[in-house]
Amino acid sequence: MIVQKYGGTSVADTGRIKSVAERVAARVREGDMVIVVVSAMAGETDKFVRFAHEITDTPDEREMDLLLSSGERITSALMAMAIQDLGLKSMSFTGRQVGIITDSAHTKAMIEHIEAGRLKAALNEGKVPVVAGFQGIDEFSDVTTLGRGGSDTTAVAIAAALNADLCEIYTDVEGVFTADPRIVPDARKMDRISYDEMLEMASLGAKVLHGRSVEFAKKYNVPLVVRSSFNTSPGTLVTREDEDMEKTVITGVTHDKNQARITIMRVPDRPGIAATIFNAIAAANINVDMIVQNISSDDRATDISFTVSKAEAKKAFEITQKVSDELGTKGVNMNTDVAKVSIVGVGMQSHFGVAATMFETLSNAGINIMMISTSEIKISCVIDVKHAEEAVRRLHDVFQLAKQ
Ligand code: ADP
Ligand code: MG
Repeated sequence: MIVQKYGGTSVADTGRIKSVAERVAARVREGDMVIVVVSAMAGETDKFVRFAHEITDTPDEREMDLLLSSGERITSALMAMAIQDLGLKSMSFTGRQVGIITDSAHTKAMIEHIEAGRLKAALNEGKVPVVAGFQGIDEFSDVTTLGRGGSDTTAVAIAAALNADLCEIYTDVEGVFTADPRIVPDARKMDRISYDEMLEMASLGAKVLHGRSVEFAKKYNVPLVVRSSFNTSPGTLVTREDEDMEKTVITGVTHDKNQARITIMRVPDRPGIAATIFNAIAAANINVDMIVQNISSDDRATDISFTVSKAEAKKAFEITQKVSDELGTKGVNMNTDVAKVSIVGVGMQSHFGVAATMFETLSNAGINIMMISTSEIKISCVIDVKHAEEAVRRLHDVFQLAKQ
């Protein structure tokens, strides 16, 4: 049993949908049981977002979810027709119809469970189910979406719920590379990568996989393959770490332009202040990523900076301003022209000087580091967005990740 997910460019037009249907049919004829998960046709979701913003600056998130979920539904119906046209039985399903139950965090909902009965019934009737990705419903039967890239998570969650043998993510590149191949032309395709490293890369901006999808794959031990829908090359296997995996210090370099930095100036230095600020932001369901607090100087006040995603920046900024007025700070400013550049690798745990090499490389290129955060297997720096690509290329070079 295989779950196959096809991304936006793989189903960009009806011609592409037909060729994907052929790929699916070939697998079914070989004797595999296939469940297909589809994204919206390339550009559709952006178009819907544009429509919403032509109506209002602050679209309601519940309405946004119903709007955005329609792109995947269109593809699923067309794909089912294309598979039927090849002489196979097929049936399309929305997230709700296959029982994908999420929490109520509109536009970034998390899957809580899947009631897989309907999918199993379709499979038993010899049908190829085609599921609209990226969506579910919450306890109030309202449509929710899982965030950009969320169809990957739909696919892995279904694979876990059905105990499938494999989940294949079909996209427009040949697998997971040491950096985005569109930015680093000599990036190397990896044959295998561990769940942990893939999870870091995905959450640090390698949009080839949705972060939550890797979390699910790891938790339920779903073997995950990323490969191209445009050719037959074998792709990258995301799996548990084992001895066969290559031993490198750094596995990959990622960047994330979907970042904004908020700084609160001269915050009074007394217990409980950080809690007040970040509780207010958490209460609005906004995720804070990096936090940096400077040490206090003589006047017992410090600057606090943190990053949030661009989409939530405006809301976070308004909340921060309100709290900051109450606390009596010197004001709040926001910078949306920032990017986060990161290096990832389990190998860095046992090597000295990795961080120093990263900072030196950026500094030699005249790139100023605004914030730093580290964990055992990654180092991230916030820099000016205009240097993001150059930073990725230089780091890729200095850690010798290019193909031989
Ligand atoms: P899909 O619509 O198929 O889900 P995405 O656009 O979400 O496709 O993801 C594929 C893209 O991810 C690639 O076109 C590539 O530019 C980008 N990408 C970023 N980092 C990486 C990486 N490390 N390896 C492969 N692709 C990457
Ligand atoms: Mg994607």
